[in-house]
Amino acid sequence: MKILIATNNNHKLKEYAEMFTPLGIEITSPKQEGLDIDPLENGKTFEENSLLKAQSFKEHTSLPVLSDDSGLSIDALDGFPGIYSARFASEQGGNKIANERIIELLKNKKKNASFFCVITYIDENNKIHQFKGECKGEILDKPEGENGFGYDPIFYSFEAKTCFGTASEDVKNKYSHRAKALEKFIEYFKSK
Ligand code: IMP
Repeated sequence: MKILIATNNNHKLKEYAEMFTPLGIEITSPKQEGLDIDPLENGKTFEENSLLKAQSFKEHTSLPVLSDDSGLSIDALDGFPGIYSARFASEQGGNKIANERIIELLKNKKKNASFFCVITYIDENNKIHQFKGECKGEILDKPEGENGFGYDPIFYSFEAKTCFGTASEDVKNKYSHRAKALEKFIEYFKSK
């Protein structure tokens, strides 16, 4: 069975490909399916935005669809940037500047933070399933490494015991919020 990964984010697509391929699950992208859709993300939670994305793509395909809404939630900033993670970075002029801004905002504050990911899967019978993953860690005082994407260079994962900016793909794909949500999805998928 083929699953459409409902994202235009090439970094996310790459991570899903790396995690799905060893499991023998075939995936395809909006670009491969000729779908040019930019869903409106006006929900108030990761769950709502993830569902909005999955539904907008599902309207245009008969394939099962898997979407992901994710972001960085910083305790001392009351969860900011949270669902605004992508928007905050583009408003700042890119992730490099956004990362520096976050470090600045956290001067003399507690650095605890979590990445969250909510996967929505709309199956072949149009049934909706959601799976949430969290990766706990802290924000570093300066960026480290060039691996991953987005906020990875300033995020130290407690479980992986490394910054995601320096972590190998294998390590990130074992401990990340996306990996955690995907693990739950795979458990469900195998039990079907
Ligand atoms: P969206 O889920 O496409 O709305 O955007 C999520 C945003 O959160 C991304 O553009 C990144 O800025 C950030 N983000 C989500 N997952 C990760 C990750 O695994 N590493 C670093 N940043 C992430």
